[in-house]
Amino acid sequence: MVANKLAYRNNDRAIVIGGSIAGLLVARVLADYFKTVTIVERDPLPRQPLQRKGVPQSVQPHVLLAKGYQILEQLFPNLGFILTKNGALKIDWVKEFHHFNLVGWSPNTDDSLDFPPSEVISFTCSRPLLEWTIRQQLGEFSNIHIVDGYKVTQLLGDATQERVTGVVLRSLKNNTSEELLADLAIDASGRSSQSPKWLANLGFNSPPETVINPLLGYATRRYKAPENFQANWKVMLISQAPPHQTRLGYLAKIENGEWIATLGGYGGDFPPTDDEGFLKFAASLRDATFYDTIRQAQPVSPIYAHRATANRLRHFDRVKLPQGFIALGDAVCALCPVYGQGMTVSALAAMVLQDCLRENNLQQFQKKLAKEISFAWTLATMQDSRFPTTVGAIKPQKVNGLAKIMQWYTEKLLAKATVKPSLHALCTEVFQMLRSPLTFYHPSVIWQVLSKL
Ligand SMILES: Cc1cc2nc3c(=O)[nH]c(=O)nc-3n(C[C@H](O)[C@H](O)[C@H](O)COP(=O)(O)OP(=O)(O)OC[C@H]3O[C@@H](n4cnc5c(N)ncnc54)[C@H](O)[C@@H]3O)c2cc1C
Repeated sequence: MVANKLAYRNNDRAIVIGGSIAGLLVARVLADYFKTVTIVERDPLPRQPLQRKGVPQSVQPHVLLAKGYQILEQLFPNLGFILTKNGALKIDWVKEFHHFNLVGWSPNTDDSLDFPPSEVISFTCSRPLLEWTIRQQLGEFSNIHIVDGYKVTQLLGDATQERVTGVVLRSLKNNTSEELLADLAIDASGRSSQSPKWLANLGFNSPPETVINPLLGYATRRYKAPENFQANWKVMLISQAPPHQTRLGYLAKIENGEWIATLGGYGGDFPPTDDEGFLKFAASLRDATFYDTIRQAQPVSPIYAHRATANRLRHFDRVKLPQGFIALGDAVCALCPVYGQGMTVSALAAMVLQDCLRENNLQQFQKKLAKEISFAWTLATMQDSRFPTTVGAIKPQKVNGLAKIMQWYTEKLLAKATVKPSLHALCTEVFQMLRSPLTFYHPSVIWQVLSKL
């Protein structure tokens, strides 16, 4: 089977720029089509699940949506088993995610309601543990090589500048540069991608960008769970409520009996990073449960702030690109993290690439990717735009009759989902990206929302 796949353009080598989630997942897909896949990562990669400089967000919480996990399992069938072995906790999002949303607590907080096990499953763990586990899995592929401690500094073009033929790497240890040739170079270097500049150096237009910045700041701390602590949640979220309630609190059980606790503030209402300020901010959330819970626990880390959270879309699909080059992951679409979509969007990109390679249709990649990520982009940017402080916010459209009805219906649906388990399960599936939001308009759902039962 692999031999057939290799027939694609007789490719010898693909280079992936960046060895974080997007780079690792895409390398796995490329391994079926290229003789050699080389991941170039500027950080020296730790042998343990530790945070690293090139992924500063790794100390912040990372929700893996059920859709993202489903794709990961497709790429690495053993992943659930290995994650469990490494200490990650399996989570059933319908049962074990307690959410205080715009209307109130999700119905799974009510012990009198029955929630059978659902298939909306993923794992909760620290971001370094997840990335390290995926990296371990790539070790099983003899044609994937990771060159760490090297930074890509430019793309190489052929004489006609129509095709990318490789990259220039600089060793961060001794500062020497060398060329690495390839048939395909993939930019998976994240938010701070330099490929718009590299493309311009080859004579191509840089992709236009859309930036919608909610001015959101996070502050995150790890805690040791108190001994004998009992709770039927694995993840708890007290959400912000636009336009005026800017604050949120996120708490998740992770490996080693620890919790990761995050406070967030929109519109420049940044949570403090000192002990007292952190707790005071926690006490100011719309519901006291988050504060009451962390108050009982022992902090085991400093408080880390993170403020690079703007939604940034680089429209690579709207410019002519050289052959042999594509971009994906946060380098294309970096999202406000509150909705937990970034890694899942990277996983979706890996699947789009797999389809394009299978159909020998790489030139359509950026257009197909743009389509695939539009739901995640729209959800994050529409929600963030509901805060008056968001920079570059989408202007509210003239509210016509239909839009008013849809808004009224959505609010009714969310309110009903706080008391009706079937609607709660459906909303969870949609927000975990397992089902289309169009499902909300299925006649059987409309009936449940509008009936008095
Ligand atoms: C505060 C915060 C919280 C988040 N929370 C969530 C969440 O809950 N759920 C979720 O799914 N997503 C979350 N995300 C998003 C998530 O971190 C990213 O979507 C995910 O890591 C995929 O990004 P990536 O691999 O494209 O880029 P990154 O993770 O940013 O990695 C880029 C990699 O490229 C390397 N690199 C950069 N330049 C070069 C170069 N020139 N040469 C070689 N290597 C280079 C870097 O060292 C790094 O390893 C969050 C993001 C932030 C900022």
